[in-house]
Amino acid sequence: MRRLLNFIDGEFREPTSNKWLEKHSPLNDEVIYELPDSGEMDVIQAISSAAKAFEKWAATPAEERSQILNRIADLIDENIDALAMAECEDVGKPLSLARKLDVPRASQNFRFFASKILHKVETASDMDGQAVNYVLRQPLGVAGLIAPWNLPLYLMTWKIAPALATGNVAVCKPSEFTSQSCFLLADLMARAGLPKGVCNFVFGLGDPVGRTLVEHPGVPLISFTGGTKTGELVQKQSLGHFKKLSLELGGKNATIVLKDVDLKKVVPSILRASFLNQGEICLCGSRILVQEDLFEEFCEVFAEAASQLVVGDPREENTFMGPLVSKVHYKKVKSFVEIARKEDGKVLTGGEFPENLGDEFKNGYFLRPTVIKDLTQCSEIHQTEIFGPVVTVNSFKYLHEGVKWANTSPYGLSASVWTKDLSKAHKMARDLKVGTVWVNTWLKRDLRMPFGGQKASGLGREGGEDSIDFFTEKKTVCIEF
Ligand code: NDP
Repeated sequence: MRRLLNFIDGEFREPTSNKWLEKHSPLNDEVIYELPDSGEMDVIQAISSAAKAFEKWAATPAEERSQILNRIADLIDENIDALAMAECEDVGKPLSLARKLDVPRASQNFRFFASKILHKVETASDMDGQAVNYVLRQPLGVAGLIAPWNLPLYLMTWKIAPALATGNVAVCKPSEFTSQSCFLLADLMARAGLPKGVCNFVFGLGDPVGRTLVEHPGVPLISFTGGTKTGELVQKQSLGHFKKLSLELGGKNATIVLKDVDLKKVVPSILRASFLNQGEICLCGSRILVQEDLFEEFCEVFAEAASQLVVGDPREENTFMGPLVSKVHYKKVKSFVEIARKEDGKVLTGGEFPENLGDEFKNGYFLRPTVIKDLTQCSEIHQTEIFGPVVTVNSFKYLHEGVKWANTSPYGLSASVWTKDLSKAHKMARDLKVGTVWVNTWLKRDLRMPFGGQKASGLGREGGEDSIDFFTEKKTVCIEF
């Protein structure tokens, strides 16, 4: 059986307990490899290896750090086949998507921050000839980086790149369901010449691995992406340590469709926003709100288009949706479809295992794209993040009503607005209580822009300057003339 190993102090190591977890394939439920079931001791070793490497890495000139990060990016690009296959096997996502989205974004993350640190200028202020103030920016030390399973490499590198670029060292904890791409990345980082100890990977369960990282007093900042419940736990676990905390959490995003749209033009994009990556993207639009006059026609056209999406072997080029990531998650998503049925929701399409899959996939975690209507706004389905290929459709009459329904959710990550009338779009963008609003597009991410959520979708912003702010401390120095 294939085994992944932790990467600590520049070398691959077995977990100290010699305990292992099994990874099941989303395609057929078979065990495909084992990964370390690491314990507190492994995390502590990784933290002390990082702490040892900190002083030298922080003092390494920005240009040298930047060159190493660019070399990592080059190696990611050169190894796109292996990395994309790792994401496909672990998550169940289409290989073509991993090649188009996940892996290219991982190398872009490194290139972006490799360049950013070379062009950074700090402010200074002259106090009318009495004194001058300037700002020093300094790394904090060991960064604890915790990522979820839906975009494993994309999200982990979104944290690693700014952390290392700014001179911090890191201990990374990927999801137990999707550790392969980080295991490969560790090797690429070593080959790129990253000094030992600067970036460590500890594989295993959220508790103890993530918990120990969050609780450890030697880790002054935690960048966490994951579910809202776990985010709450992370907040509690870090209490009393005065850590810098960035929490990127769940979403229940609204897709608002005004009656002026050209359905032929927008439906393909709204399908993508609903079901890309099996609907397992925190930014997926899982609540579609359509203006009254267009509602029935939208439901018909959209459900028909959803029923035509190809669900199947994610290694095939024409597959749009693969299986869900794990059996537990698959059962959870399906249970929401049952709740919707009990609440008299009308399933327009989906809700079932696809009929035409071969025998080899009969134990896989596949679910057809599911569209549900006739649920009230207070239904559990509208209030809870399902994180799968399940969307609801509801109607609204006036713009303010559309915004009200969109905001009636504990979450506030993103929303998309679809209309030809930009002045209406501006008004809605202003009133939506979310971190990102897309107008006539979805998932276009500019690395220079802040990213994060409001309400239960998180705390803080990362991206561009905000990442630099998060991963550094600003110090003001005041000198009398
Ligand atoms: P989880 O919250 O279950 O896990 C996220 C990470 O936290 C995993 O690595 C997990 O490890 C770890 N973890 C679990 N328990 C603890 C703990 N006590 N202390 C520290 N770390 C812990 O999320 P999922 O992996 O299920 O990912 C899906 C969620 O992520 C969805 O809610 C989605 O919306 C959200 N997400 C948010 C994004 C954003 O940018 N806002 C982007 C992408 C996803 P393990 O897997 O081993 O349990």
